[in-house]
Amino acid sequence: MQRVKVLVVGAGVVGLSSAVCIAETLPHCSVTVVAEKFSPDTTSDGAAGIFLPTEFPDIPRERQRRWFKESFDHLLAIADSPQAGEAGVYLSSGYHIFKDVPNDKKPYWADVVLGFRYMTDHEMKRFPNHKFGQAFTTLKCECWRYLPWMEKRLRAVGGQILHEKVTDLHKLALNYDAIINCSGVGSRFLAKDEEVYPVRGQILKINAPWLKNFLRDGDGMTYIYPGMTHVNIGGTRQVGDWCMEVNKEDSEGILERCCRLEPSLRACQVMEEWVGLRPGRANLRVEREYLSVLGHQVPLVHNYGHGGCGVTLSWGTALDALDLLRQSLYEKPPLARL
Ligand SMILES: Cc1cc2nc3c(=O)[nH]c(=O)nc-3n(C[C@H](O)[C@H](O)[C@H](O)COP(=O)(O)OP(=O)(O)OC[C@H]3O[C@@H](n4cnc5c(N)ncnc54)[C@H](O)[C@@H]3O)c2cc1C
Repeated sequence: MQRVKVLVVGAGVVGLSSAVCIAETLPHCSVTVVAEKFSPDTTSDGAAGIFLPTEFPDIPRERQRRWFKESFDHLLAIADSPQAGEAGVYLSSGYHIFKDVPNDKKPYWADVVLGFRYMTDHEMKRFPNHKFGQAFTTLKCECWRYLPWMEKRLRAVGGQILHEKVTDLHKLALNYDAIINCSGVGSRFLAKDEEVYPVRGQILKINAPWLKNFLRDGDGMTYIYPGMTHVNIGGTRQVGDWCMEVNKEDSEGILERCCRLEPSLRACQVMEEWVGLRPGRANLRVEREYLSVLGHQVPLVHNYGHGGCGVTLSWGTALDALDLLRQSLYEKPPLARL
């Protein structure tokens, strides 16, 4: 039987999750990943990788909850396995504190994370400027470890890797039976989707090994996420800003805000400053269309626009991309436009 040639564009957490998910589930497909940048140079590599969903306004909550639960369960199994260290996936406990009590005291994902509860008065005493807090254990996935591990997992089932910038999806469709577009903020150009925009994020990687619990303030503009080799502190959320240069004022602001929350940080040592562009979009896009090439129709499955929670939703949206691909392989395509 001839193998179905599938091309995945993008080697961030969304692209590699989609590629591994397809290659491991559909053995009759040969999967190739093409990308301009691979680990350690993707946006995903610098993300703290804490599992915390935000909400997309026009996507049914139940679908968003399913994306999160499928991702959480898949990565929890990795965290519980001997692969955890190499993959950079582990449980992380901490607090999400609020200056005002939020409308949604119990978020839709509260029963997916472990041990969700409201903080006690005794715990809140550490944060005199805050009125309310949630305590829970979630996952953390450090992509600078996870992506190389996923590449290995892909190669183990015969997946191929190509290092190349793509300029035209139609041209690719001449050589492949299906394309999965996971190009993150690059989809603004590649898929000509003007709804995609950069949300610039700057963080500091610091040495503060005494910190073990995460701490996130309100809307998530200020946070402290301890990791395996360093602590990520942030952040910024600059909508429409393409600048990849480190901004000194941003760094000073981050350090000041984080020290106010966690005074022990005044003794920390800054190891690195990092900037990344979140793939912003009002609603994440997991959708299929067809490319018309030389009289036949090639399915194009989009999986991009994860904003600030690409790691959090990576496996769940990859499963949806897999379903759309599977349907395309068994359904009759629409008639080609000549
Ligand atoms: C400061 C910061 C902190 C974050 N913290 C978290 C967090 O704690 N938890 C969380 O869940 N998320 C977090 N995020 C968000 C997360 O990083 C993104 O949602 C995620 O990385 C998106 O993954 P992606 O694979 O879609 O994009 P990317 O990682 O950007 O990968 C895109 C891929 O597409 C390729 N590509 C693009 N255009 C082309 C082209 N024309 N040709 C070939 N290849 C192309 C790129 O080279 C790359 O390989 C954070 C982001 C930032 C900036």
